[in-house]
Amino acid sequence: MSNFQPAARVTRIKPSPSVAAAARAKELKAAGKDIVDMTVGEPDFDTPDSVKAVGIAAIEAGDTKYTPVNGTPALRKAIRNRMAQRTGITYGDDQISVGGGAKQIIFVALMASVDNDAEVIIPAPYWVSYPDMVLANEGKPVIVSCPESDGFKLSAEALEAAITPKTRWLILNAPSNPTGAAYSDSELKALADVLDRHPHVWVMTDEIYDEIWFEDRPLSSIVKVAPHLADRIFVVNGVSKSYAMTGWRIGYGVGPAPLIGAINKLQSQMSSCPASMSQAAAAAAMEGDQSFITDCVKVYKQRRDFAVASINAIPELSCSTPSGAFYLYPNCSGVIGKVTPEGKTIENDLDFVLYLLDSGVAAIHGAAYGLSPHFRISTATSTDLVEEACRRIAAACAALK
Ligand code: PMP
Repeated sequence: MSNFQPAARVTRIKPSPSVAAAARAKELKAAGKDIVDMTVGEPDFDTPDSVKAVGIAAIEAGDTKYTPVNGTPALRKAIRNRMAQRTGITYGDDQISVGGGAKQIIFVALMASVDNDAEVIIPAPYWVSYPDMVLANEGKPVIVSCPESDGFKLSAEALEAAITPKTRWLILNAPSNPTGAAYSDSELKALADVLDRHPHVWVMTDEIYDEIWFEDRPLSSIVKVAPHLADRIFVVNGVSKSYAMTGWRIGYGVGPAPLIGAINKLQSQMSSCPASMSQAAAAAAMEGDQSFITDCVKVYKQRRDFAVASINAIPELSCSTPSGAFYLYPNCSGVIGKVTPEGKTIENDLDFVLYLLDSGVAAIHGAAYGLSPHFRISTATSTDLVEEACRRIAAACAALK
Protein backbone atom coordinates (compact mmCIF):
# COMPACT_ATOMS: atom_id res chain seq x y z
CA MET A 1 0.00 0.00 0.00
CA SER A 2 1.32 3.42 -0.93
CA ASN A 3 1.76 5.97 1.86
CA PHE A 4 1.31 8.88 -0.57
CA GLN A 5 -0.05 11.98 1.17
CA PRO A 6 -1.39 14.60 -1.23
CA ALA A 7 -0.49 18.22 -0.53
CA ALA A 8 -3.20 20.45 0.93
CA ARG A 9 -3.55 22.22 -2.44
CA VAL A 10 -4.63 18.95 -3.99
CA THR A 11 -7.18 18.08 -1.33
CA ARG A 12 -8.65 21.58 -1.60
CA ILE A 13 -9.61 21.11 -5.24
CA LYS A 14 -11.70 18.72 -7.30
CA PRO A 15 -11.01 17.34 -10.76
CA SER A 16 -12.61 19.30 -13.61
CA PRO A 17 -16.30 18.22 -13.73
CA SER A 18 -16.44 18.76 -17.49
CA VAL A 19 -13.42 16.54 -18.08
CA ALA A 20 -14.98 13.95 -15.71
CA ALA A 21 -18.37 14.09 -17.46
CA ALA A 22 -16.72 13.72 -20.88
CA ALA A 23 -14.74 10.72 -19.58
CA ARG A 24 -17.93 9.11 -18.20
CA ALA A 25 -19.70 9.58 -21.53
CA LYS A 26 -16.72 8.02 -23.37
CA GLU A 27 -16.70 5.04 -20.97
CA LEU A 28 -20.41 4.41 -21.45
CA LYS A 29 -20.03 4.63 -25.22
CA ALA A 30 -17.07 2.24 -25.11
CA ALA A 31 -19.24 -0.17 -23.08
CA GLY A 32 -21.69 -0.15 -25.98
CA LYS A 33 -24.30 2.29 -24.63
CA ASP A 34 -25.90 4.56 -27.21
CA ILE A 35 -24.92 8.01 -25.92
CA VAL A 36 -24.90 11.33 -27.73
CA ASP A 37 -22.06 13.16 -26.06
CA MET A 38 -22.87 16.84 -25.60
CA THR A 39 -20.24 17.43 -22.90
CA VAL A 40 -17.30 18.08 -25.16
CA GLY A 41 -15.73 21.54 -24.99
CA GLU A 42 -13.67 21.26 -28.12
CA PRO A 43 -14.42 21.85 -31.80
CA ASP A 44 -15.47 18.74 -33.72
CA PHE A 45 -13.61 20.17 -36.72
CA ASP A 46 -10.12 19.01 -37.54
CA THR A 47 -7.15 21.40 -37.39
CA PRO A 48 -6.84 22.98 -40.87
CA ASP A 49 -4.52 21.02 -43.18
CA SER A 50 -2.41 24.10 -43.88
CA VAL A 51 -1.72 24.46 -40.15
CA LYS A 52 -0.94 20.75 -39.72
CA ALA A 53 1.50 21.03 -42.62
CA VAL A 54 3.41 23.79 -40.82
CA GLY A 55 3.64 21.62 -37.66
CA ILE A 56 4.93 18.68 -39.70
CA ALA A 57 7.40 20.86 -41.59
CA ALA A 58 8.65 22.28 -38.27
CA ILE A 59 9.41 18.78 -37.02
CA GLU A 60 11.12 17.84 -40.26
CA ALA A 61 13.20 21.02 -40.23
CA GLY A 62 14.54 20.14 -36.78
CA ASP A 63 12.39 22.69 -34.98
CA THR A 64 12.26 20.24 -32.11
CA LYS A 65 14.24 21.98 -29.40
CA TYR A 66 13.57 24.24 -26.43
CA THR A 67 12.32 27.69 -27.38
CA PRO A 68 12.45 30.87 -25.29
CA VAL A 69 10.35 30.44 -22.10
CA ASN A 70 7.84 33.06 -23.21
CA GLY A 71 7.42 31.59 -26.71
CA THR A 72 9.14 31.90 -30.08
CA PRO A 73 9.65 35.42 -31.48
CA ALA A 74 7.48 34.39 -34.47
CA LEU A 75 4.54 33.40 -32.29
CA ARG A 76 4.87 36.45 -30.05
CA LYS A 77 4.87 38.61 -33.17
CA ALA A 78 1.67 36.92 -34.39
CA ILE A 79 0.08 37.54 -30.98
CA ARG A 80 1.23 41.17 -30.93
CA ASN A 81 -0.21 41.76 -34.40
CA ARG A 82 -3.51 40.15 -33.51
CA MET A 83 -3.82 42.15 -30.29
CA ALA A 84 -3.03 45.39 -32.12
CA GLN A 85 -5.62 44.57 -34.76
CA ARG A 86 -8.33 43.74 -32.21
CA THR A 87 -7.65 46.29 -29.49
CA GLY A 88 -5.62 49.06 -31.10
CA ILE A 89 -3.00 48.54 -28.38
CA THR A 90 0.55 47.63 -29.34
CA TYR A 91 1.94 45.39 -26.65
CA GLY A 92 5.67 45.17 -26.05
CA ASP A 93 7.58 41.94 -26.32
CA ASP A 94 7.87 41.83 -22.52
CA GLN A 95 4.06 41.92 -22.24
CA ILE A 96 3.35 38.61 -23.94
CA SER A 97 3.83 35.07 -22.69
CA VAL A 98 2.95 31.78 -24.35
CA GLY A 99 2.06 28.63 -22.43
CA GLY A 100 0.67 25.14 -22.82
CA GLY A 101 -2.92 26.24 -23.39
CA ALA A 102 -4.96 29.10 -21.98
CA LYS A 103 -5.66 26.84 -19.03
CA GLN A 104 -2.02 26.72 -18.05
CA ILE A 105 -1.60 30.45 -18.61
CA ILE A 106 -4.51 31.22 -16.26
CA PHE A 107 -3.17 28.81 -13.66
CA VAL A 108 0.32 30.28 -13.77
CA ALA A 109 -0.99 33.86 -13.75
CA LEU A 110 -2.88 33.03 -10.54
CA MET A 111 0.18 31.26 -9.14
CA ALA A 112 2.19 34.39 -9.90
CA SER A 113 -0.21 36.77 -8.20
CA VAL A 114 -2.40 35.09 -5.61
CA ASP A 115 -1.61 33.78 -2.15
CA ASN A 116 -2.58 34.24 1.46
CA ASP A 117 -6.34 34.11 0.77
CA ALA A 118 -6.26 36.93 -1.78
CA GLU A 119 -9.77 37.16 -3.20
CA VAL A 120 -10.68 36.51 -6.80
CA ILE A 121 -14.13 37.61 -7.95
CA ILE A 122 -15.68 35.02 -10.24
CA PRO A 123 -19.07 35.80 -11.81
CA ALA A 124 -21.31 32.69 -11.89
CA PRO A 125 -22.03 30.81 -14.05
CA TYR A 126 -18.29 30.39 -14.57
CA TRP A 127 -15.91 28.10 -16.41
CA VAL A 128 -15.55 25.18 -14.02
CA SER A 129 -11.80 25.57 -13.57
CA TYR A 130 -11.57 29.12 -12.19
CA PRO A 131 -12.55 28.44 -8.55
CA ASP A 132 -10.35 25.37 -8.24
CA MET A 133 -7.40 27.14 -9.84
CA VAL A 134 -7.77 29.94 -7.29
CA LEU A 135 -8.01 27.43 -4.44
CA ALA A 136 -4.99 25.50 -5.68
CA ASN A 137 -3.02 28.74 -5.51
CA GLU A 138 -3.99 29.65 -1.95
CA GLY A 139 -6.56 32.22 -2.99
CA LYS A 140 -10.20 32.60 -2.09
CA PRO A 141 -12.81 32.43 -4.87
CA VAL A 142 -15.56 34.99 -4.36
CA ILE A 143 -18.49 33.76 -6.41
CA VAL A 144 -20.99 36.39 -7.52
CA SER A 145 -24.24 35.00 -8.84
CA CYS A 146 -25.28 36.50 -12.19
CA PRO A 147 -28.78 35.23 -12.87
CA GLU A 148 -30.33 34.70 -16.27
CA SER A 149 -32.50 37.79 -15.69
CA ASP A 150 -29.24 39.81 -15.81
CA GLY A 151 -28.22 38.01 -19.01
CA PHE A 152 -25.79 35.90 -16.91
CA LYS A 153 -23.62 39.01 -16.64
CA LEU A 154 -21.97 40.82 -13.75
CA SER A 155 -23.55 44.17 -12.96
CA ALA A 156 -21.59 47.18 -11.74
CA GLU A 157 -23.53 47.06 -8.45
CA ALA A 158 -22.71 43.39 -7.86
CA LEU A 159 -19.05 44.05 -8.64
CA GLU A 160 -18.92 47.00 -6.25
CA ALA A 161 -20.50 44.90 -3.48
CA ALA A 162 -18.01 42.04 -3.97
CA ILE A 163 -14.83 44.12 -3.78
CA THR A 164 -12.90 44.14 -0.50
CA PRO A 165 -9.38 45.30 0.37
CA LYS A 166 -8.29 41.68 -0.25
CA THR A 167 -9.62 41.54 -3.83
CA ARG A 168 -6.84 40.79 -6.28
CA TRP A 169 -8.63 39.88 -9.48
CA LEU A 170 -11.92 40.04 -11.26
CA ILE A 171 -12.19 37.26 -13.84
CA LEU A 172 -14.27 38.03 -16.91
CA ASN A 173 -14.98 35.48 -19.60
CA ALA A 174 -16.79 36.49 -22.76
CA PRO A 175 -18.16 34.93 -24.82
CA SER A 176 -18.81 32.81 -21.76
CA ASN A 177 -18.41 29.15 -21.20
CA PRO A 178 -21.13 28.00 -20.33
CA THR A 179 -23.66 30.66 -21.44
CA GLY A 180 -22.23 32.29 -24.55
CA ALA A 181 -23.10 35.67 -23.02
CA ALA A 182 -20.87 38.66 -23.73
CA TYR A 183 -20.76 42.20 -22.37
CA SER A 184 -21.66 45.25 -24.41
CA ASP A 185 -19.49 48.38 -24.47
CA SER A 186 -21.76 50.13 -21.99
CA GLU A 187 -21.83 47.17 -19.60
CA LEU A 188 -18.03 47.03 -19.65
CA LYS A 189 -17.82 50.79 -19.23
CA ALA A 190 -19.96 50.50 -16.07
CA LEU A 191 -17.64 47.78 -14.72
CA ALA A 192 -14.61 49.92 -15.61
CA ASP A 193 -16.12 52.85 -13.67
CA VAL A 194 -16.23 50.64 -10.57
CA LEU A 195 -12.66 49.47 -11.18
CA ASP A 196 -11.54 53.10 -11.46
CA ARG A 197 -12.53 53.50 -7.82
CA HIS A 198 -10.60 50.37 -6.76
CA PRO A 199 -7.09 50.57 -8.20
CA HIS A 200 -5.95 47.43 -6.35
CA VAL A 201 -8.31 45.23 -8.40
CA TRP A 202 -6.90 43.66 -11.58
CA VAL A 203 -8.92 42.13 -14.41
CA MET A 204 -8.25 38.81 -16.05
CA THR A 205 -10.26 38.69 -19.26
CA ASP A 206 -10.48 35.20 -20.74
CA GLU A 207 -11.25 35.71 -24.43
CA ILE A 208 -10.61 32.18 -25.65
CA TYR A 209 -13.96 32.10 -27.52
CA ASP A 210 -13.62 35.55 -29.09
CA GLU A 211 -13.62 34.26 -32.67
CA ILE A 212 -16.75 32.20 -32.16
CA TRP A 213 -19.09 35.16 -32.30
CA PHE A 214 -22.56 35.29 -33.87
CA GLU A 215 -23.68 38.90 -33.53
CA ASP A 216 -23.47 41.59 -36.20
CA ARG A 217 -21.85 44.04 -33.78
CA PRO A 218 -18.18 43.41 -32.95
CA LEU A 219 -17.40 41.61 -29.69
CA SER A 220 -16.40 44.11 -27.04
CA SER A 221 -13.59 43.74 -24.53
CA ILE A 222 -12.63 45.66 -21.41
CA VAL A 223 -9.24 46.37 -23.01
CA LYS A 224 -10.96 48.22 -25.86
CA VAL A 225 -13.47 50.03 -23.65
CA ALA A 226 -11.08 51.00 -20.87
CA PRO A 227 -7.56 51.23 -22.34
CA HIS A 228 -6.62 53.43 -19.37
CA LEU A 229 -6.87 50.27 -17.22
CA ALA A 230 -4.37 48.41 -19.43
CA ASP A 231 -1.78 48.44 -16.66
CA ARG A 232 -3.99 46.05 -14.67
CA ILE A 233 -5.71 44.04 -17.39
CA PHE A 234 -4.47 40.59 -18.30
CA VAL A 235 -5.88 39.18 -21.54
CA VAL A 236 -5.98 35.41 -21.99
CA ASN A 237 -6.46 33.73 -25.34
CA GLY A 238 -5.20 30.82 -27.41
CA VAL A 239 -5.62 28.80 -30.56
CA SER A 240 -7.56 25.82 -29.12
CA LYS A 241 -11.09 26.92 -29.95
CA SER A 242 -10.63 29.28 -32.92
CA TYR A 243 -8.47 26.95 -35.00
CA ALA A 244 -9.58 23.57 -33.62
CA MET A 245 -6.16 23.08 -32.06
CA THR A 246 -7.04 21.82 -28.56
CA GLY A 247 -4.43 19.08 -28.61
CA TRP A 248 -1.57 21.33 -29.74
CA ARG A 249 -1.73 23.09 -26.35
CA ILE A 250 -0.93 26.70 -27.13
CA GLY A 251 -2.42 29.57 -25.17
CA TYR A 252 -1.15 33.03 -24.34
CA GLY A 253 -1.44 35.88 -21.89
CA VAL A 254 -0.93 39.56 -22.62
CA GLY A 255 -0.63 42.25 -19.99
CA PRO A 256 1.57 44.32 -17.70
CA ALA A 257 5.29 43.48 -17.96
CA PRO A 258 5.80 42.81 -14.22
CA LEU A 259 3.05 40.17 -14.24
CA ILE A 260 4.39 38.63 -17.46
CA GLY A 261 7.87 38.60 -15.92
CA ALA A 262 6.55 36.71 -12.88
CA ILE A 263 4.74 34.25 -15.15
CA ASN A 264 7.90 33.70 -17.20
CA LYS A 265 9.93 33.11 -14.05
CA LEU A 266 7.50 30.41 -12.94
CA GLN A 267 7.32 28.91 -16.43
CA SER A 268 11.13 28.75 -16.54
CA GLN A 269 11.01 26.44 -13.53
CA MET A 270 7.90 24.62 -14.61
CA SER A 271 7.78 23.80 -18.31
CA SER A 272 10.77 25.68 -19.84
CA CYS A 273 8.60 26.39 -22.88
CA PRO A 274 5.57 25.18 -24.82
CA ALA A 275 6.10 22.59 -27.58
CA SER A 276 8.22 24.09 -30.36
CA MET A 277 6.31 22.55 -33.29
CA SER A 278 2.97 23.58 -31.78
CA GLN A 279 4.20 27.16 -31.57
CA ALA A 280 5.16 27.09 -35.25
CA ALA A 281 1.71 25.78 -36.15
CA ALA A 282 -0.06 28.31 -33.89
CA ALA A 283 1.82 31.23 -35.45
CA ALA A 284 0.87 29.97 -38.92
CA ALA A 285 -2.77 29.63 -37.88
CA MET A 286 -2.91 33.17 -36.53
CA GLU A 287 -1.10 34.75 -39.48
CA GLY A 288 -2.62 32.71 -42.29
CA ASP A 289 -5.96 32.65 -44.09
CA GLN A 290 -8.77 33.07 -41.54
CA SER A 291 -11.57 31.59 -43.65
CA PHE A 292 -11.51 28.40 -41.53
CA ILE A 293 -12.94 30.43 -38.66
CA THR A 294 -15.67 31.99 -40.81
CA ASP A 295 -16.69 28.54 -42.07
CA CYS A 296 -16.79 27.03 -38.56
CA VAL A 297 -18.75 29.96 -37.13
CA LYS A 298 -21.37 29.56 -39.84
CA VAL A 299 -21.89 25.94 -38.79
CA TYR A 300 -21.84 26.68 -35.04
CA LYS A 301 -24.47 29.35 -35.64
CA GLN A 302 -26.76 26.98 -37.56
CA ARG A 303 -26.46 24.43 -34.77
CA ARG A 304 -27.09 27.08 -32.14
CA ASP A 305 -30.23 28.29 -33.90
CA PHE A 306 -31.52 24.76 -34.32
CA ALA A 307 -30.75 23.71 -30.73
CA VAL A 308 -32.12 26.90 -29.10
CA ALA A 309 -35.37 26.56 -31.05
CA SER A 310 -35.63 22.84 -30.24
CA ILE A 311 -35.01 23.36 -26.52
CA ASN A 312 -37.45 26.27 -26.38
CA ALA A 313 -40.11 24.04 -27.94
CA ILE A 314 -39.86 21.73 -24.90
CA PRO A 315 -42.41 22.97 -22.34
CA GLU A 316 -40.24 22.18 -19.29
CA LEU A 317 -37.10 23.93 -20.60
CA SER A 318 -36.09 27.37 -21.77
CA CYS A 319 -32.89 28.60 -23.32
CA SER A 320 -31.56 32.07 -23.95
CA THR A 321 -29.67 32.59 -27.17
CA PRO A 322 -25.88 32.61 -26.80
CA SER A 323 -24.03 35.43 -28.57
CA GLY A 324 -20.91 33.34 -29.00
CA ALA A 325 -18.97 30.16 -28.10
CA PHE A 326 -20.46 26.72 -28.73
CA TYR A 327 -22.52 26.01 -25.64
CA LEU A 328 -26.14 26.29 -24.59
CA TYR A 329 -27.09 26.73 -20.95
CA PRO A 330 -30.80 25.90 -20.78
CA ASN A 331 -32.87 26.53 -17.68
CA CYS A 332 -34.42 23.31 -16.38
CA SER A 333 -36.48 24.63 -13.46
CA GLY A 334 -39.56 23.12 -15.18
CA VAL A 335 -38.37 19.56 -14.58
CA ILE A 336 -37.59 19.98 -10.89
CA GLY A 337 -40.09 17.99 -8.82
CA LYS A 338 -41.15 15.82 -11.78
CA VAL A 339 -40.87 12.04 -11.64
CA THR A 340 -39.01 9.83 -14.13
CA PRO A 341 -40.61 6.69 -15.61
CA GLU A 342 -38.44 4.74 -13.12
CA GLY A 343 -40.13 6.58 -10.25
CA LYS A 344 -37.26 8.87 -9.29
CA THR A 345 -38.05 12.47 -8.41
CA ILE A 346 -35.80 15.04 -10.09
CA GLU A 347 -34.66 17.26 -7.27
CA ASN A 348 -31.89 19.27 -8.93
CA ASP A 349 -29.98 19.72 -12.15
CA LEU A 350 -27.62 16.85 -11.36
CA ASP A 351 -30.61 14.47 -11.10
CA PHE A 352 -31.82 15.80 -14.45
CA VAL A 353 -28.48 15.32 -16.14
CA LEU A 354 -28.26 11.74 -14.79
CA TYR A 355 -31.74 11.13 -16.16
CA LEU A 356 -30.66 12.55 -19.53
CA LEU A 357 -27.68 10.20 -19.48
CA ASP A 358 -30.07 7.26 -18.98
CA SER A 359 -32.02 8.72 -21.92
CA GLY A 360 -28.91 8.67 -24.13
CA VAL A 361 -27.61 12.27 -23.84
CA ALA A 362 -24.53 13.27 -21.88
CA ALA A 363 -24.66 16.86 -20.58
CA ILE A 364 -23.21 18.69 -17.59
CA HIS A 365 -25.24 19.92 -14.63
CA GLY A 366 -25.44 23.65 -13.92
CA ALA A 367 -24.25 23.31 -10.31
CA ALA A 368 -20.78 22.56 -11.73
CA TYR A 369 -20.83 26.09 -13.22
CA GLY A 370 -22.18 27.71 -10.07
CA LEU A 371 -25.72 28.51 -11.24
CA SER A 372 -28.70 26.14 -11.00
CA PRO A 373 -31.04 24.81 -12.19
CA HIS A 374 -29.42 24.68 -15.59
CA PHE A 375 -27.45 22.26 -17.71
CA ARG A 376 -24.80 22.78 -20.33
CA ILE A 377 -24.77 21.18 -23.73
CA SER A 378 -22.03 21.72 -26.27
CA THR A 379 -22.86 22.10 -29.93
CA ALA A 380 -19.27 21.36 -30.90
CA THR A 381 -20.39 18.03 -32.23
CA SER A 382 -21.79 17.04 -35.62
CA THR A 383 -25.02 18.69 -36.72
CA ASP A 384 -26.71 15.26 -36.94
CA LEU A 385 -25.79 14.54 -33.33
CA VAL A 386 -27.04 17.94 -32.16
CA GLU A 387 -30.38 17.13 -33.82
CA GLU A 388 -30.46 13.64 -32.29
CA ALA A 389 -29.61 15.01 -28.83
CA CYS A 390 -32.44 17.56 -29.06
CA ARG A 391 -34.88 14.79 -30.03
CA ARG A 392 -33.76 12.67 -27.09
CA ILE A 393 -33.98 15.56 -24.62
CA ALA A 394 -37.52 16.34 -25.84
CA ALA A 395 -38.55 12.67 -25.51
CA ALA A 396 -36.98 12.44 -22.03
CA CYS A 397 -38.86 15.54 -20.86
CA ALA A 398 -42.13 14.29 -22.37
CA ALA A 399 -41.76 11.04 -20.39
CA LEU A 400 -41.62 12.91 -17.04
CA LYS A 401 -44.69 13.00 -14.85
N1 PMP B 1 -11.04 29.25 -20.78
C1 PMP B 1 -12.25 28.76 -21.02
C2 PMP B 1 -13.42 29.59 -20.68
C3 PMP B 1 -12.40 27.48 -21.57
O1 PMP B 1 -13.63 26.99 -21.81
C4 PMP B 1 -11.25 26.72 -21.87
C5 PMP B 1 -11.33 25.32 -22.45
N2 PMP B 1 -12.36 24.55 -22.04
C6 PMP B 1 -10.00 27.28 -21.59
C7 PMP B 1 -9.93 28.55 -21.06
C8 PMP B 1 -8.72 26.54 -21.85
O2 PMP B 1 -8.40 26.36 -23.17
P1 PMP B 1 -6.99 25.78 -23.63
O3 PMP B 1 -6.22 25.42 -22.40
O4 PMP B 1 -7.29 24.61 -24.48
O5 PMP B 1 -6.31 26.88 -24.37
